[in-house]
Parts: sequence; structure tokens; C-alpha cells
Amino acid sequence: TGSAEQAGAAPPAARAGERIALRFEDRSLGYRDLAAAAGRVAARIRGAGRVAVWATPTAETAVGVVGALLAGVPAVPLNPRSGETELGHIVSDSAPAAVLAGPGDVLPAALAGLERIDVDAAPGGPPVPLPGPGPADEDPALVVYTSGTTGPPKGAVLSRRAVATTLDALADAWRWTGDDVLVHALPLFHVHGLVLGILGPLRRGGSVRHLGRFSPEGVARELRGGATMLFGVPTMYHRLAEALPGDPELAAALAGARLLVSGSAALPVHDHERIAAATGRRVVERYGMTETLMNTSVRADGEPRAGTVGVPLPGVELRLVEEDGTPITGYDGESVGEIQVRGPNLFTEYLNRPDATAAAFTADGWFRTGDMAVRDTDGYVRIVGRKATDLIKSGGYKIGAGEIENALLEHPAVREAAVTGEPDADLGERVVAWIVPADPQSPPDAAELADHVAGRLAPHKRPRVVRLLDALPRNDMGKVMKRALPRD
Ligand code: ATP
Ligand code: MG
Repeated sequence: TGSAEQAGAAPPAARAGERIALRFEDRSLGYRDLAAAAGRVAARIRGAGRVAVWATPTAETAVGVVGALLAGVPAVPLNPRSGETELGHIVSDSAPAAVLAGPGDVLPAALAGLERIDVDAAPGGPPVPLPGPGPADEDPALVVYTSGTTGPPKGAVLSRRAVATTLDALADAWRWTGDDVLVHALPLFHVHGLVLGILGPLRRGGSVRHLGRFSPEGVARELRGGATMLFGVPTMYHRLAEALPGDPELAAALAGARLLVSGSAALPVHDHERIAAATGRRVVERYGMTETLMNTSVRADGEPRAGTVGVPLPGVELRLVEEDGTPITGYDGESVGEIQVRGPNLFTEYLNRPDATAAAFTADGWFRTGDMAVRDTDGYVRIVGRKATDLIKSGGYKIGAGEIENALLEHPAVREAAVTGEPDADLGERVVAWIVPADPQSPPDAAELADHVAGRLAPHKRPRVVRLLDALPRNDMGKVMKRALPRD
């Protein structure tokens, strides 16, 4: 399509006529320069056990990770916004030989004991030959720590095979090719931003334009300037949904995108529908996790439907299992079970956690995701929520928090909503709604919200208690940390 070449108009640094691999704000790196820069990193770290990467949203991070892949040294991306305690935990757990960083980065005390290697991502540097045998498919490519939404982060060891197969499965599902140009605004220390957002386009031979920081204007500018796809988390799509009514240029830009993909957490139905109404485009949802990479997605030729994450990706086996371990047969759109998956996309193990690794798998090798779902009659997976935090057992019913959150978000006085269960003498658990009001001066009334929910869902799903907050506790991916909600 030539869209990657249009990106060449901006970057003075890239060699003339060369295909752009990466652009971070106004700095671009062509494929030859990326290979040379990554080769220099690889030559420095060859033979190391593991390297940490100070994963700022910059070209240095991408070059560092690609260099580690070239060298066959597993990379451990670090979240630069983590606190000292969490960084200390990850460093002592993963024991990296060195930390790769950008030349200007200031590293925190928790990393003081590590050798520092500055990544030189400047274009035009010399290529470095890498002699010796290449790494094998089953070798670890990355150790990615989980988001820590439900407990302390665990290091998932991801093989080269797992990374490659998940990216190829997504290419199949999304018709993703080297002609695609991705608009990227996610952090680079998780699977979404790093594996899908950086390694994905590079594996296809396409390009990435990273905004540094998400903004609806930046997304609109890049989509108008030849980018074809957007990967985002629900908080980004929420901001797009909010901006759309007053911004016809944004609406036109999103309408012209080839693919809008959301993942990392559930996309609220309300936002999905507002975006569809304003742009005529439906956001494609995919579902994955650090341990499994990607499990399901709506396909590019499939029908995106609000509230569903589509069908298993090629090569992924998926089943729903009842509490007693019985697999649910058939798709009835009602029976709730835990999602279990099997396939070449799965991680190898949790680093240093044989106990947690063993507990995560069934005897016959299925990975227990901890996510609960139903399957629509045509097989589409509909996530109900996490077993640990989103399943409320009230009055003999099993209630999923997600659908109540979706219903609450449709109320005009509600900006954000999270639903939890808390002990109740009569009901076992009662439904509690945590609400960030649209206007703090006139918060919604508890009885009114209960009626609103009861009018859309079954009466037993109405919140019995409403608690107001200024903001929901969220992590760096915008995921609601329910364990951080205040307790009485
Ligand atoms: P931790 O495992 O440390 O508690 P985490 O589970 O949030 O944190 P990740 O591996 O980053 O860490 O996130 C995977 C989880 O994110 C999934 O298990 C699922 O609950 C949720 N998730 C991802 N994509 C979707 C989606 N499209 N819809 C609903 N939930 C999703
Ligand atoms: Mg998890």
C-alpha cells in the first residue's frame, strides 16, 4: 500500500528508501538499522543467562529486546513505573546478568547492583556479525511478569515457539501483513505492548508508530497518515468514545482504520457501542494473558459483537470447566465455567515457582486461566469475569461482576464502575457497586442505580450497596485492581 513509505516523510534519520520498522515520536529506525543496532546489543550480551530491559516506550527498549532475541538471551522487561519493592522482587527473582537501558535513563536504587549496558539505537551504526548456532524453538525468549492484578506478579517464562505461534495465529485471524502500520501507545513491559505491539509488526515486516503517550489526537493523526491498525486497552477506547462526539476528524480516522483491537481487560459494552455508533466500526476484542499469550479473538472476517472475545485462535484448544472439573459440552450461552486452554502458545513455567506452575495445570495439561466465561450458541466466548474477584455467590445464584458493571456504565450519572461481592448474613454474598460519579456534585442515588440494574438484568443482580469513589484503583494497563478497593 506504500503506507510504510509515507512514514518515511517524517524521519530524517532513516536511510532513504528504506522500509521503516519503528518510529517512536519523531525518531525512526529502518529495518537495516534495527538489525545493526540489535546486533550490537546481541554481541555485548551473548552467553548471558538473562538480561533485564528498562522498558520505557522508546526505540532503545525495542532494540534491546530484539538484540536479546538475536543473542538467544531471555529478556526480562521491567516496568519503569514500578516501585522499588516490586523491582527488587523481580530482580532478585530473575537474577539478570545486566540491565539494558537508554543512554539518558536514570535507574533506581533497586537496580544498582546490576551491570548497566546502554543501548545504542542510533541509525547508521555498524552491523555486527553473530557467529555460532542460533537458539532453539523451546529456548526461553522472554520472562514477562504478570500484571499483579490478583496478587504479586509472577514471572512467566515464554519460549520462542510460544511467541512465534501466537503472532502467526493472530496474523491468520486478523489478516495481518507487512503492509500494516500499527499505531501503538501502550507500555512495553507486558505482552500486549511488547509481544503484540513490537514483535508482531516486526515478524510481519510491517511498521510501528509509537505515540509515546496516548492521545485521541495522536491516534487520529497516525490513522489519517497511513497507519492501518490500532491496539489499545479499554481505558484508551473509553477516551476515544468520550472524544468522538465532538471530533468528526477522529471519527473519520477511526472509520478508515483496517482494524481496531482491544484487549488486556474487558471492553465495556457502552464504549463498544458508542464507538460503533460514531464511526460505523466495531472494535475487535481479543483475550489473552501473560501465561498463554493470545487465546481467542474475533476474526477480521468475523462479526465483532459487544461483550465477546471471539473464538479460539488457530492451534488453541479451549474448554469451559465446571467447579467439580467436568467440562461443559455444547454452547448454550448460559453455562458458566472456567476457561482452560492448551496449545503451543502456552508458557513454559513460572520462574522459580514449581508450586504455582504445578497448580496452574490440570493432570492432562490444560492451563487453568482463572477466568470464567460462557459460550454463545455459535461458539463465541463471552468472559464473565475472574473466578477470584468477579464471581459473586449471592442467594444461590452465581453472578458475574462484568455484566453488572456494563449495566451501571450505561447510567448517565456513572463514569466508572466496579462490582464486587462482600459477605452477607442472608445472601452469602451481596453485590456491591463502586461508583465514580460523572459529576461528583450530584452522584447517583443508590436506589436509582439498583432499579437501573434490575431493569436491565435480573432483579437479584441489583447492587445492594453503592460506594462512591473519586477514582478506581487501576494499574499501568488501566486494569481495575479490585484487591486495592478500600475495605471497611
Ligand atoms: P495477575 O495474574 O498478576 O493477577 P493479570 O491476570 O491482570 O495479573 P495479565 O496476564 O496481564 O495479568 O492479564 C491477563 C488477564 O487479563 C486475563 O486472565 C483476563 O482476566 C484479563 N483479560 C485480558 N484480555 C481480556 C479481555 N479481552 N476481556 C476480559 N478480560 C481480559
Ligand atoms: Mg493473571
